[in-house]
Amino acid sequence: MSTFGIDDLPVRDELRGKSPYGAPQLDVPVRLNTNENPYPLPEPLVERIAERVREAARDLNRYPDRNAVELRTRLAAYLTETGGYPVGPENVWAANGSNEVIQQLLQTFGGPGRTALGFEPSYSMHSLIARGTGTGWISGPRAEDFSLDVPAAERAIAEHRPDVVFITSPNNPTGTAVPPEAVLALFEAAQAAKPSLVVLDEAYIEFSHGDSLLPLLEGRPNLVVSRTMSKAFGAAGLRLGYLAAHPAVVDAVQLVRLPYHLSAVNQATALAALEFSDTLLGYVERLKSERDRLAAELGALGYEVTPSDANFVQFGRFTDAHEAWRSILDRGVLVRDNGVPGWLRVTAGTPAENDAFLEAARALKKDHP
Ligand code: PMP
Repeated sequence: MSTFGIDDLPVRDELRGKSPYGAPQLDVPVRLNTNENPYPLPEPLVERIAERVREAARDLNRYPDRNAVELRTRLAAYLTETGGYPVGPENVWAANGSNEVIQQLLQTFGGPGRTALGFEPSYSMHSLIARGTGTGWISGPRAEDFSLDVPAAERAIAEHRPDVVFITSPNNPTGTAVPPEAVLALFEAAQAAKPSLVVLDEAYIEFSHGDSLLPLLEGRPNLVVSRTMSKAFGAAGLRLGYLAAHPAVVDAVQLVRLPYHLSAVNQATALAALEFSDTLLGYVERLKSERDRLAAELGALGYEVTPSDANFVQFGRFTDAHEAWRSILDRGVLVRDNGVPGWLRVTAGTPAENDAFLEAARALKKDHP
């Protein structure tokens, strides 16, 4: 067997010895580890997707609409209806998942010689995409309770003068929402220090008790709100993320996007899903109440729970979180060990899946009171 590996190749120095993103994809009865929506798409939507894709298939000999104008118009309408702030297609850009949106933003506003800062623990792909785009990464602080400590965050921004600042609200993996005053204070700090681009990652906003901070875009061309259809729209397999920002930001990301990056099949599928946004947002309401039930029952079992505005709950504390993860897995339930010492994260599933998880959590508490 050859022992030849990545590090024997002439790869970039900053990739040596690193691991890829790797949430386990295990075949277990209850999978509550990647913040997916547990509800399959409703059958009428599946039919509509088939119809739209059939139409798109007739033109697959041609490249797709490079600017995805129809899709951006529909996404803008969705944001205008639900976000409390009017946006048009010129304010919206879409890509293959919000991960690609973030990658395009870092290719445009980060890159070699530049830095990005996020407040950790937070979404691990922010730092991984920074690395992939040659952007230096700065880990900013959070308070003990995982909320944003605004003065400490302002100090980190002033000290490091990053080119890009990530604010994730609700935050993954903690579920913590960031209040508008805090976002504004950090935006001001970032402008005073550099000025820099502030990316407000609202991947989970539809699950929040509070509203989207989309209205903060008014008069702030250096602010970007990023969104996804992977969570609330129940379409993680689709790969469709988008952003809302000043039209100049949309123009700027054109400089790095690959031509025809969004396939015609992908655009057709996303358009079909947007026709069903009301039905899909109905599932969000169910998931919000299941999320609240999970939090309440975990609390009643004696776990500590971080207040959540997302479709998941962070719970603990464990002396050995990985061992706790393993014993929950041994009971057929896959949750997530994000490497936050003492804590695990469970995604809200169907009521039956959540019951199975709570049963495993109860048994674990009995074994390790
Ligand atoms: N942002 C946050 C905070 C996330 O948790 C995720 C997915 N886990 C994403 C962005 C990326 O989602 P996608 O690429 O599926 O749109």
